[in-house]
Amino acid sequence: MANTSINPFETAKQQVDIVAELIGINDGVREVLKHPKRELAVNFPVRMDDGSYRVYTGYRVQYNMARGPTKGGVRYHPQVTLDEVRALAAWMTWKCAVVDIPYGGAKGGVVCDPKHMSREELERLTRRYASEIAPIIGPEMDIPAPDVYTDSQTMAWIMDTYSMLKGYSVPGVVTGKPISLGGSEGRGEATGRGCAYVIREAAKDLGLKVKGAPVAIQGFGNAGSVAANILNDEQGAKIVAVSDSKGGIYKADGLNPHTVEEHKAKTGSVVGFPGAKSISNDEVLEAKADILVPAALENQITKKNADKIQAKIVAEAANGPTLPEADAILFEKKVTVLPDVLANAGGVTVSYFEWAQDIQGYFWALDEVNTRLERTMVRSYNAVHKVATERKVHNRTAAYVVAIQRVVDAIKIRGIYP
Ligand code: NAD
Repeated sequence: MANTSINPFETAKQQVDIVAELIGINDGVREVLKHPKRELAVNFPVRMDDGSYRVYTGYRVQYNMARGPTKGGVRYHPQVTLDEVRALAAWMTWKCAVVDIPYGGAKGGVVCDPKHMSREELERLTRRYASEIAPIIGPEMDIPAPDVYTDSQTMAWIMDTYSMLKGYSVPGVVTGKPISLGGSEGRGEATGRGCAYVIREAAKDLGLKVKGAPVAIQGFGNAGSVAANILNDEQGAKIVAVSDSKGGIYKADGLNPHTVEEHKAKTGSVVGFPGAKSISNDEVLEAKADILVPAALENQITKKNADKIQAKIVAEAANGPTLPEADAILFEKKVTVLPDVLANAGGVTVSYFEWAQDIQGYFWALDEVNTRLERTMVRSYNAVHKVATERKVHNRTAAYVVAIQRVVDAIKIRGIYP
């Protein structure tokens, strides 16, 4: 969420400047990269359950379309700001370019408090927001997806509203839909699975054996628990520490992530898992592990704890878990950081597959989705690793170099209209 002391859009623009210096992007193109192409702000009334009306503010920012239609989630949160949405839209542009899917980046948000709204109020809010942004979304223009406090039900409402306006069903207008409405097999676990694939590739380059390697996972939710299962089941890693918002657990000889999941489903938390030691969230980050997967929140690895991290690989399943000050420390310590734009891009990759299946009207089996995801993640990791090695920069900078260069190439070859 927006941190009041740091304007995320300023950060996003500074990142462009750093890469522009490094790869020599001229001032004109640099300015293009630092401006969102299109922004829509909407104020719209919603009828509340008690019969009153409330006016909500929503945004949709389409950052850059040079490489294709724009793609990005919609978040519902009281602290949504236009600058936050702009920054998230810029980051989506780079993320889609890192994995080389034919999309630009976008993001949307509605300033609201979904925790204090009924399902009916949320449905009315979603349908009205969808109709307000309908003129600028669509399978060929901009394709929303779930983000913070929106889910497959929200996407189903947007898809239905857009389809009602058109007069026919348009499943390709959003991704992250329920399977019954044109969602893709494998989307639910794509982020964690993609993260596990890039960990495997990075470990190969480091000469680190994943089989038997101790792994710590901060945040045992969708992304974190899937990454744990796949590292455990398919790569033979040993999950020694996991945590959620209530705290963490540790077991030196390994936890079975599936039984931890069952325990969490029953009790609401990983805490209290039989046979494991209770530890704090900080201790999870600093646990004796070769691989650390932050999969919870932003700003978790800071200059205060970066030095205490024992892992050789930090794979950012979460968005923005490492502060720039910590990046520098980890780079000094020769920790391999797999940055969010690469490590969690499995989600948007399978969203792209969902859209491709929707517009073809032809659906793939799970193994086909996973094989294509694996190919995309391995190819993207290799592209980032090559630039990091050649330029002697850390993977985050390398990922931005790869991504921004691809966007710049598209801008240049298309030329500036008219
Ligand atoms: P989620 O809500 O399913 O899981 C988040 C987990 O983090 C929960 O288990 C929660 O208890 C835990 N958590 C919250 N506060 C914590 C704290 N202080 N310490 C430790 N754990 C804490 O969410 P998710 O979909 O898994 O997303 C997690 C991160 O991954 C987010 O940063 C999100 O932006 C990113 N991400 C997710 C996807 C996706 O497809 N799910 C895609 C890209 C990026």
